[in-house]
Amino acid sequence: MGCNENNKECTNNYNKKIVLQHGKLTPQEFLQYFETKVFKTIKKYKLFERNEKICVAASGGKDSTAVLHLTKRYYERYNIPLENLFAIAIDEGIERHRNESLKNLKQFCKAENIKLIIVNVKDNFKTNIDESAEKIRKIGRKPCMVCGIWRRYLLNKYARENGAKKLITGHNLDDEAQAIMMNQFKANVSLTASLGPISGKKDHKMFVRRIKPLYFCTNDEVEIYCKVKGWELDFCDCLYSQEGYRSQIKQMLNEFEEKYPGTKHGIVKSFLEILPLIKEKANQDIGKIKECEICKEPANKNVCNACKLQKELLG
Ligand code: SF4
Repeated sequence: MGCNENNKECTNNYNKKIVLQHGKLTPQEFLQYFETKVFKTIKKYKLFERNEKICVAASGGKDSTAVLHLTKRYYERYNIPLENLFAIAIDEGIERHRNESLKNLKQFCKAENIKLIIVNVKDNFKTNIDESAEKIRKIGRKPCMVCGIWRRYLLNKYARENGAKKLITGHNLDDEAQAIMMNQFKANVSLTASLGPISGKKDHKMFVRRIKPLYFCTNDEVEIYCKVKGWELDFCDCLYSQEGYRSQIKQMLNEFEEKYPGTKHGIVKSFLEILPLIKEKANQDIGKIKECEICKEPANKNVCNACKLQKELLG
């Protein structure tokens, strides 16, 4: 499996981590603890209803694999028909990273009997991240920024077209703390209002709401869960991630967490307390959602960001 050798998370020593963070738990007890935590989040925040069709944004990475498996377990526990559940994976065209993870994902979905739809960035935007990386940098942008916009666009479009009412993502507590800090540093109140266990500011027929069952699970916990489960996943980051703004915020928060344990929980906890106020403000400021004049998907301006980027890259 591909590996970024700078990534210190590439360790199989999960037993040590369980001892460090969950002193009294055996691996079996840890699995139970983790599953209970995720199920509690689904129930407390009413992330989805029994009769809703649900799509999981899957990539073959640890977070989305864990959330896909646990959603299925939740369905089984509460006798929810499995035909209401499917997965979508976006192939961004990142050869060293995505090829391997998609291979793992296909095997995983087959074994779990979950329908998987793979959507190719190149089929939709006539180019992909590897092919455009140099051009993306030349126009002063980062591969992660383009990749993120195209991924969100395709996940929303294909989840909606396949009848999903909610889209489950594998965002964990570390991801959320990073996103909160990134938006703070960039003074982006509108994007901050879209965070939380249920993303988005308000319902709109063209948008599928994103939900995050791993919201209160740390990155380490998700990694331990996957390793105790014995899944052979690629635990390493995509090589482009090092270039992104998020990577620096991640490093900063990890250093803080090391010195002041509980920092990430503190960020997310205080954010949840003020989230209703932020949403209220954002809803007052929200402009009318338009229809992109190129692709007809929802947009804030006449042309959506996904089509705008495609035009910038391909002319
Ligand atoms: S790290 Fe960046 S380029 Fe790589 S998959 Fe994630 S968003 Fe895309």
